Amino acid sequence: MKAELVLEDLKRRFPNEPEYHQAVQEVLESIEEVYNQHPEFEKANLIERLCIPERIFSFRVTWVDDKGNTHTNMGYRIQHCNAIGPYKGGLRLHASVNLSILKFLAFEQTFKNSLTTLPMGGAKGGSDFNPKGKSSAEVMRFCQAFMLELWRNIGPDTDVPAGDIGVGGREVGYFFGMYKKLAREFTGTFTGKGLTFGGSLIRPEATGYGNVYFLLEMLKTQNIDIKGKKCLVSGSGNVAQYTCEKLIELGAIPVTLSDSNGYIYDPEGITTEKLEYVKELKELYRGRISEYAETYGCKYVANARPWGEKADIALPSATQNEINGEDAKKIVANGIIAVSEGANMPSTPEAIEVFQQAKILYAPGKAANAGGVSVSGLEMTQNSERISWSAEEVDEKLKSIMQNIHENCVKYGTEKDGYVNYVKGANIAGFMKVAKAVMAQGIV
Ligand code: NDP
Repeated sequence: MKAELVLEDLKRRFPNEPEYHQAVQEVLESIEEVYNQHPEFEKANLIERLCIPERIFSFRVTWVDDKGNTHTNMGYRIQHCNAIGPYKGGLRLHASVNLSILKFLAFEQTFKNSLTTLPMGGAKGGSDFNPKGKSSAEVMRFCQAFMLELWRNIGPDTDVPAGDIGVGGREVGYFFGMYKKLAREFTGTFTGKGLTFGGSLIRPEATGYGNVYFLLEMLKTQNIDIKGKKCLVSGSGNVAQYTCEKLIELGAIPVTLSDSNGYIYDPEGITTEKLEYVKELKELYRGRISEYAETYGCKYVANARPWGEKADIALPSATQNEINGEDAKKIVANGIIAVSEGANMPSTPEAIEVFQQAKILYAPGKAANAGGVSVSGLEMTQNSERISWSAEEVDEKLKSIMQNIHENCVKYGTEKDGYVNYVKGANIAGFMKVAKAVMAQGIV
């Protein structure tokens, strides 16, 4: 397999899908050498079978707003690979959603899920519906209309969706309610459900907490204490909030948050009390992060990202490609020692190159944000057994999964000079397990 040629072919067959090409390129380049040690892979054309999704559903979603106007959106579900378990991955509701973005996310999800050691395949879905400014009734009608199309293609042993950008507890509740009605069953077909109807404790916290647990493992390799470290966090949604919560608990100092309109810089640090304000602002009032700056009298920069601010650690937790090469240069120049990705693919290839050249600790989302789907996997287990574990039990399991993923990255990613290439480590470890499972199941 020649990574370059495979990619060229995919670009020809699936043009205008830059995010998908970007995600595939990163994996191909990391695994090329290991892959080529297995001639049986090449004979079975394994690489194309793992790059191209097994199945894609796309459908129109029609819903009515509060004023009686009718709207149409596109809905999608990408079932990328179910070699190691039922398809699993979130639903994203954001105006920017398109096939390229969902294909990249489903592809990444497949190898991320493999890394967790839990039996889950990879999928992703969503819609270009923009939840901003919509009433809860409108969001509910949209979710119901979406589910009316998707319900036949998912199920507890088939495909188990969850949340992502624009999909939190409220939306999962609406999706699940409609699914349950149409399917006439009560099963664990969604994860991230409310605690009163089968949700797992620690699921809302899991991605953010998991990212900080992974960061701790990276810091440990260099005997660095997280206490007192200033952290740049982007985003202000689920992942960003619980990243801050864990950082504060461990004595680190988050100093930034952002949303699609700009970022705040709070030199005093975001405290537990201020974080409670952010949670209310975002979950209840669905407001803008600029309001934080008005409330606490700190700096707000419109239409910008926080990467030029001075700090010790960066935890991008908003969206893909939010750190470009120039941002990465600023991050390195400011002496940042570690970048741990809560978001999926937040760094462009140029940015990754800058981090790795500078040999700072750099963890790709595939490894660092796998805590979310891991606890989703634990939610599936609890639902199947009709039991629920305590918060402490789930948190312990989450910690041990993140440590395990870190160990695997070190095992497969340590270079001759001792530098751990976490991208390579995560890609090889994730890929090899899926590859072996696909090979064992014949040409299907
Ligand atoms: P939320 O919807 O809760 O929050 C997303 C945050 O990112 C919001 O602050 C949002 O601002 C901001 N954001 C979204 N799109 C953009 C954009 N194009 N430019 C700038 N800011 C943007 O989503 P999550 O916190 O759940 O997800 C954040 C990231 O983490 C995503 O990459 C997601 O795929 C990833 N992830 C999430 C997991 C989970 O369990 N939830 C699991 C693993 C990864 P605004 O409100 O203005 O849109």
